[in-house]
Amino acid sequence: MNLYNIKHPEQQVNFAQAVRQGLGKNQGLFFPEVIPPLDNVDALLELPLVERSQAILSALIGEELPSAVLNQIVSDAFTFPAPLVKVEDNIYALELFHGPTLAFKDFGGRFMARTLAAIRGEGKITILTATSGDTGAAVAHAFYGLDNIEVVILYPKGKISPLQEKLFCTLGGNIRTVAINGDFDDCQALVKQAFDDQDLRKAIGLNSANSINISRLLAQVCYYFEAVAQLPKAQRNNLVVSVPSGNFGNLTAGLIAKWLGLPIKRFIASTNANDTVPRYLKSGQWQPNATVATLSNAMDVSRPNNWPRVEEIFKRNGWNLSELHSDSRSDAATETALQAMQAKGYLCEPHGAIAYDTLSADLQAGETGIFLCTAHPAKFKESVDRILGLDLPLPQALDKHNKLPLLSDEMANDFSLLRTYLLQR
Ligand SMILES: *Cc1c(COP(=O)(O)O)cnc(C)c1O
Repeated sequence: MNLYNIKHPEQQVNFAQAVRQGLGKNQGLFFPEVIPPLDNVDALLELPLVERSQAILSALIGEELPSAVLNQIVSDAFTFPAPLVKVEDNIYALELFHGPTLAFKDFGGRFMARTLAAIRGEGKITILTATSGDTGAAVAHAFYGLDNIEVVILYPKGKISPLQEKLFCTLGGNIRTVAINGDFDDCQALVKQAFDDQDLRKAIGLNSANSINISRLLAQVCYYFEAVAQLPKAQRNNLVVSVPSGNFGNLTAGLIAKWLGLPIKRFIASTNANDTVPRYLKSGQWQPNATVATLSNAMDVSRPNNWPRVEEIFKRNGWNLSELHSDSRSDAATETALQAMQAKGYLCEPHGAIAYDTLSADLQAGETGIFLCTAHPAKFKESVDRILGLDLPLPQALDKHNKLPLLSDEMANDFSLLRTYLLQR
């Protein structure tokens, strides 16, 4: 698989280089040169998740990963289901939270960790990543205990749920976590600064497990196929998929699935009050506001770093950006949506509720809708309990970590401090 830097197309790398480097020159994102349309989509949809995903990823990545290696990575990574649950006659939830850290990021994180371990070559690797909540857990658990790979995770102090924090800041070992005095965009900016520092990069073998890493996005393509595979055949035309969006990696993966030939008519990019994209699509002006904290905190991103990939996909396919619907929901509207879903018999959490609400407002007669449920409701227990009048039991995975002490370090939003910290080990 060959990839180019969207900002500097003359910079070209293979899959292994793209996975190891994460970001290209000048913070440009890597994008595959070729997305090969699949001529056997109907047959693929008949296969079980793991076999189908092996076929899709092999078509995308090509010979660079020998098929025995790729097949092993996929069967080790995708060990949990992604059920499609009917919520209304023409609306389904795709539940992506049945992995070990109860969020969709387990798909990408587990695939990336195993891929990196397979292609790593010599020398030390340091994974530096910023999280708005769920990436941290998925990455920490995916890399925990891997030899010679250090993981450092930055997160905005006090701006992620206490349960989210417990899930990834209690591991220790090769996982270090740092609470930054700032918001998620600050954390993301620190990571980008580290990547711009060539000396640092070399000294510690810097890599990012953020959704800027192409391996994560390729893994996520697979569950869009899994969604359609579970849909009754009569409902596979006129399909609309609503994606709760923060950094827009999930949407990017969905668009790649469509490019490969998966029959999805259109997407809805759903956001909270951090609505840079819906405003941009209406006005044509890219004007990020300061990031605000919301109930759906994993989407508290005002400078979504995968957006250039979304535009690249539209450009290369000759699709018009006006075909991408996008809408935002306030916290108040999110609460109302959660309650409405509860009344219909479906228990959800804030991110999925936003995707459901924009979908039901936008769905036209004759269309079938799928909204992505990106996290387990118990991961947002504090809000969900309050809004729905429940006392959700903690799933085992969460309960175990909830009882352990936090091991995080604290740091001001200052790159020179982070640099020293990274060089310490
Ligand atoms: C990360 C995350 C999102 C946003 O996904 P992107 O790929 O960054 O757009 C949405 N919901 C949850 C629960 C998340 O953890």
